[in-house]
Amino acid sequence: MIMAYKYRLYPNKQQMIFFEKQFGACRFVYNWALEQKIKYYETNKKSLSCFAVNNQLAILKKQEGYQWLNDVIAQSLQMSIRNLDNAFTKFFREKKGFPKFKSKKNGVRSFKLPQNYSFNFTKNTIRIPKLGNVKVILTKRITGVCKTVTVSKNSTGKYYISVLVDDGNELPEKVPFDDTTTVGIDIGIKDFAILSNGEKVNNPEYLKTSLKKLKTFSKRLSRKQKGSNNFKKAKLKLSRLHETISNQRNDFQHKLSIKLVRENQAIALETLKVCNMIKNHNLAQSISDAGWSSFVDKLTYKAEWYGKTILRIGTFEPSSKLCSNCGYHNKELTLVVREWTCPSCNAFHDRDINAAINIKKFALQDQNLIGI
Ligand SMILES: [Zn+2]
Repeated sequence: MIMAYKYRLYPNKQQMIFFEKQFGACRFVYNWALEQKIKYYETNKKSLSCFAVNNQLAILKKQEGYQWLNDVIAQSLQMSIRNLDNAFTKFFREKKGFPKFKSKKNGVRSFKLPQNYSFNFTKNTIRIPKLGNVKVILTKRITGVCKTVTVSKNSTGKYYISVLVDDGNELPEKVPFDDTTTVGIDIGIKDFAILSNGEKVNNPEYLKTSLKKLKTFSKRLSRKQKGSNNFKKAKLKLSRLHETISNQRNDFQHKLSIKLVRENQAIALETLKVCNMIKNHNLAQSISDAGWSSFVDKLTYKAEWYGKTILRIGTFEPSSKLCSNCGYHNKELTLVVREWTCPSCNAFHDRDINAAINIKKFALQDQNLIGI
């Protein structure tokens, strides 16, 4: 199993300068390689391989004006070329967007290091080639084989290092599940999530408070003159708030996802709901705020760790308009109606809980585990 460890890095002034150079060189090589690939394709109608780009890079490094590329870690430059290759694979295989040129303004700066680094857990340092020891707070001991390391700097100027580690363990076998050990989850507007067992999970208060601040801070920034000192101050404040929100949200989502994975053998959810809902502009804000897709990601990999199953159903199923008790299709039900009584069987429904129950039903039906 591949696990990720993340630590805060504390470079000194000189090391910061080295990192800036390294970030810049990786971005430069990425953009340069993208240009080479586009040009090659335009003349030859064939794609230029990773290997060929690496060879061209070796030539470029000897040319006048490009010698500064020899001052940085060569492996990281090769990793940039490989990253670009992965972006192209994604573009061809998954029809995801064509690789873009990286701009200097991009908030996050990073570079990858495939090997030749080492941690010292007693001294709390990492040894980086061409640079030496950098202070890092190694809060958690690593068990397993270290793979690629990524050094990054976020928009508020903090440095981090994340390490991919293979712990040598196989993923556990899937645990069997049935109607009583499966939970259905529906995405909420007012609440973060609604469970088929009737439980409603709301965003924590501290997160709501931070989200309220977001509007004020953005407004303040928009009133400042671009490029002025006050603008920079306001921008940093906004970046810091974004960072706080992202930490608070991650913390909340980690706790909720691990709880759901521990308490249930299978979790049923709708796949494409986020895309559909974002089209509806009134809901867009609340949906993106809820960070549903990052939650589903966490749920998915944690389920794998524990041998639990994620069941996905398509959005074409009318989960909110069907009576979960008798199956009556309430076509008149609009989004504003939060509670309704089934005209056919008289069952009283909370709109969201009814939907969560249906999601679970549909998912189990797909598995031939129950019939409706
Ligand atoms: Zn009914």
